[in-house]
Amino acid sequence: MDILLYNTLTKRKEPFKPIKEVVGFYACGPTVYHYVHIGNLRSFIFEDVLKRVLLFNNFQVNHVMNITDVGHLTSDADEGEDKMLKGAKRENKTVWEVAEYYTQSFLEDIKKLNILMPNIICKATDHIKEQIELIQKLEKNGFTYQADGNVYFDTSKLEDYGKLVNITKEKRARVKKDSNKKNPEDFVLWFTKSKFQDQEMKWDSTWGCGYPGWHAECSAMASKYLGEQFDIHCGGQDLAPVHHTNEIAQSEAAFGKKPWVKYWLHNEFVILPKGEKMSKSGDNFQTLDAIKAKGFSPLDLRYLFLGTVYRKQLMFNEKALVSARTARKKLFDRFLALTGEHGNDNVELQKRYIEQFTAEVNDDLNTPKALATMWEVLKDDELSDHDKKYLLLQFDKVFGFNLGDLQTENIPANVTSLAEERLIARNQKDWKKADTLRDKISVLGYSIDDTNEGYEVRKK
Ligand code: AMP
Ligand code: ZN
Repeated sequence: MDILLYNTLTKRKEPFKPIKEVVGFYACGPTVYHYVHIGNLRSFIFEDVLKRVLLFNNFQVNHVMNITDVGHLTSDADEGEDKMLKGAKRENKTVWEVAEYYTQSFLEDIKKLNILMPNIICKATDHIKEQIELIQKLEKNGFTYQADGNVYFDTSKLEDYGKLVNITKEKRARVKKDSNKKNPEDFVLWFTKSKFQDQEMKWDSTWGCGYPGWHAECSAMASKYLGEQFDIHCGGQDLAPVHHTNEIAQSEAAFGKKPWVKYWLHNEFVILPKGEKMSKSGDNFQTLDAIKAKGFSPLDLRYLFLGTVYRKQLMFNEKALVSARTARKKLFDRFLALTGEHGNDNVELQKRYIEQFTAEVNDDLNTPKALATMWEVLKDDELSDHDKKYLLLQFDKVFGFNLGDLQTENIPANVTSLAEERLIARNQKDWKKADTLRDKISVLGYSIDDTNEGYEVRKK
């Protein structure tokens, strides 16, 4: 069965046909000057689901993700504040310490969310040589000019610049913010004249001591690990108009292969109740740890994201997360209640469900429909527990809840006794005491929910 993917480049759903046997898959990673927020995590979960769907369809995947640890600007237009420097000042650390700290924090988050580790995670600062070589290639091919110490990419040299988001020549911006630029969309490949005199990250180059522009790292690292032409490139949709557009410009100008990447996929934003995008620089963001501190499991967030197609905006609020938690817990309970091993009693019906599920996830990752199919399976009386277990474990290869690792929990006696004490406090309407006991239970690594029967305790 074909996998249909919506390609931003062609603006339609297309059957996926890889260039080579192993799928080349590049995803733009985080900029490590702060914690990743749940908007960023939506992007990484979407990419994880895409990769899992490819694996489910028996493709091999080589997944590369970069870590943007070079200081870049808070605006995409080569202006604004240096992000890494901003983080370093805020925390009284060096930019290197900031980058290391937030890289580790990101890696922990993706583990908690059952995101499959990329095959290669590469840091921009470990690939300065490759970025310089890319810029030298562009220089040799006649796509660059120098002005006031910086090296620029000349976008007028490319007929199809901006094709990813339909920036036609007529539509190009008329305002030139940087007077050194020949064309408004031109961008810096190498900075030597930093606006930030206290810039700590600098490297020698043929153009002088400085640092690369943001877009160079992805073109340089993707080509190093996936070759000069590959299958899939992803990121949040904010990256399409500038970052990805400029990655395409650089790579097609340097390597001469069109299209540089066959399929471009972009996820929509996580937004907040007033409609604003959750963003790192906007200080309106929520982290995974903040959600955990409120008693949610990271997998509640995973369930929430799977419940909306990746190309639709997702409004984040606690009510939605509570519903996701209820559904996720119900799923875990129902799975644990299935008796015996997984098996194949009703092969015909199982086959029908597998086909239905495959058609759904292969239709541009329709995870909400696929989740509905999973619930249908759990309700279907014509399937035995063995059949259901088999099907759920198959579906879980895409959903990534790691159902196979679930075990009935043995709650320690001290936690149970705190829970009992809390139930008494609640019955006596001593809410303060009940809250204190909840905190004590939380410190021991458990969460407690009130139910009609009393309470439910779980490992967080
Ligand atoms: P950053 O760390 O800002 O470089 O972003 C990492 C990834 O998260 C990129 O693919 C962004 O496009 C994506 N992203 C940023 N903000 C959001 C958001 N509010 N919702 C969904 N994805 C986002
Ligand atoms: Zn990138």
